[in-house]
Amino acid sequence: MKLHHIGVAVTNLDEAIARHAKVGLKLVHRETVPSQQVEVAFVGERPWIELVAGTHPESGVSQFIAKRGPGQHHLAFAVPSIIEELARQEHAGARLIDKEARPGAWGHMVAFLHPKDQGGVLIELVEERH
Ligand code: ZN
Repeated sequence: MKLHHIGVAVTNLDEAIARHAKVGLKLVHRETVPSQQVEVAFVGERPWIELVAGTHPESGVSQFIAKRGPGQHHLAFAVPSIIEELARQEHAGARLIDKEARPGAWGHMVAFLHPKDQGGVLIELVEERH
């Protein structure tokens, strides 16, 4: 598994993009992901920083920010097959937030693993589709 991106929860996406641009991390992709009730912006180069802002108070990221404030939210790893990786993780006893992959940003398929089994770190699996 290779690091694909580092997810950072932000309250204001425009401000966060501008702040990163100032230190040379340019915006490469911006997209609303309805399935996760978020708007995301990827900055820099692979492994990117993914700035994530909730588009609804009930979204996981909005709840994360309400509880813990903005900041590092998840690590995302590229895997060749999400189906195979989820099966492997479940067999190893990891709790899955997503039993099945769902559409994520950039047209990729994604799934999340519960942080309780990952040293407190929320892990996203990404199967790239381009
Ligand atoms: Zn992510």
